[in-house]
Amino acid sequence: MTAFGFSRWAALAVALANTAPGQRHGDLLTTTGELAALLRAHDEPEPVDVGTKDLADALTARDAFSGIFEMAGDEAAIAERLNALLASTARPRLVSHAGVPLHLHVDAPGSSWGQWLAASGAMGLALLVAEHGATVLTRCAAQDCRDALLRTGSGPPRRFCSATCASRVRVAAHRQGRRGNPAAE
Ligand SMILES: [Zn+2]
Repeated sequence: MTAFGFSRWAALAVALANTAPGQRHGDLLTTTGELAALLRAHDEPEPVDVGTKDLADALTARDAFSGIFEMAGDEAAIAERLNALLASTARPRLVSHAGVPLHLHVDAPGSSWGQWLAASGAMGLALLVAEHGATVLTRCAAQDCRDALLRTGSGPPRRFCSATCASRVRVAAHRQGRRGNPAAE
């Protein structure tokens, strides 16, 4: 069960940023169906009805989040960008629906899915930055990946988005080391 609230919003911002075309995959967000699948994969309750405006706004939000993850822990720049995003999209309010207890909505009433992603994602990332510092927002250290990732959790700071990236880089470094030192064969 995914935690509801801001950690889920932050995870959605990361997932959205990582749909952008990169070295390892093309653009993963080109259709309304792909946006609906992304929302459902992060436990958005039905109805998840996605139209072309939702997709266009989601791509705008994606650009904003991608830029924030490029800032490599630059506190001032990250705060400025997140504040601008919050100012233009967020209007936090308590809401109750039939059968659902009082909870927080971050977006303005009537927002598109894309505007909801911008507002909720910006709030989720802002809360993480406030708790862990700006270096919580980073990118995978594998140069052929560079996916956005959150450095949360205990233990040494995460450098890679996945075990796959960590082991690929380790194997490459090992091969390189052996090439550089033939005596080690
Ligand atoms: Zn990676």
